[in-house]
Amino acid sequence: MKVIIQTNKIKCDVGNCRNLAGFSVAPEGVGAGQYINLCDECMRALYGEIGVLLAKKRKSKKKSIEQRGQNDKV
Ligand SMILES: [Zn+2]
Repeated sequence: MKVIIQTNKIKCDVGNCRNLAGFSVAPEGVGAGQYINLCDECMRALYGEIGVLLAKKRKSKKKSIEQRGQNDKV
């Protein structure tokens, strides 16, 4: 999976967004027609959302390890 800079004039794939895509998410072995095209604005919004989700996941994982540590003490 790669994210490439889109130079063709393709519309952003996000719902009602009308911007031109500045980036494309390009999985291995997939044609350009199946890329996910994102404008700069949506890319940044998505980055923020992904960051929050992954941070939450990492945190909760860490927490469960800490809890296990406490249980071992008791
Ligand atoms: Zn967009």
